[in-house]
Amino acid sequence: MNIILLAPPAAGKGTQSAFITSKYHLKHISTGDLLRCALAKNDEMSSYIQNEMNAGRLVSDEIILELIKNELVDESYDGVVLDGFPRNLIQAMKYEELLTDLNQTLNCVLYLSIDKEIAEKRIVGRHTCPNCKRIYNSMVEGQKSLEEGICDDCKISLTQRSDDNQQTFDVRYDTYMKETSPLINFYSEKGLLKTLDASKDPNEVFLEIQKILDSIL
Ligand code: ADP
Repeated sequence: MNIILLAPPAAGKGTQSAFITSKYHLKHISTGDLLRCALAKNDEMSSYIQNEMNAGRLVSDEIILELIKNELVDESYDGVVLDGFPRNLIQAMKYEELLTDLNQTLNCVLYLSIDKEIAEKRIVGRHTCPNCKRIYNSMVEGQKSLEEGICDDCKISLTQRSDDNQQTFDVRYDTYMKETSPLINFYSEKGLLKTLDASKDPNEVFLEIQKILDSIL
């Protein structure tokens, strides 16, 4: 089963990906996480990536597609959950080609819908565990860690992303509206789009997701 999570920043793609992948034995592919890993190389490419991410712009399709291709060829899972990809029409069409080459299909696009104001608030309180990648939010009930600033599972300090600030959020949101939101129609016309209200509690959102996924399994 191949699933895309489509959403504006801070709608909960990471949180829902973690829930979905552990229940359905799917591989979580987050292009944001892959890019953050690529930064560790400290070469010319990583400084370009860091600039684009800090500015809230999209990284080039060429780099993204190279990262994605390497991840898709992994037969130890029953499919993938794509978190943060595709993010524009070119990436969506390239992904279709990649799936055809792999003799696979896209089963479902989960669109996590959320108002800009709520997304904005979530960004400010968002913290991530550097080990298990679980996302917490100190300002949203149901997403707080038990002990402030510490991962419930790994018991280590949470970190905050360098692009989780007001200025970068504004550009990220505009980029989403201009480049990514046209994918809502693209997948709706293919009959693949399922819309969820991502302003609800993450556990409630996941219950809805399970109903959808169980019905297409
Ligand atoms: P969010 O969805 O909350 O903005 P992500 O971790 O998915 O967070 O993305 C962070 C940044 O990484 C984006 O603002 C963008 O610069 C870059 N990025 C992630 N995925 C892609 C993609 N598919 N295409 C281009 N850039 C991407």
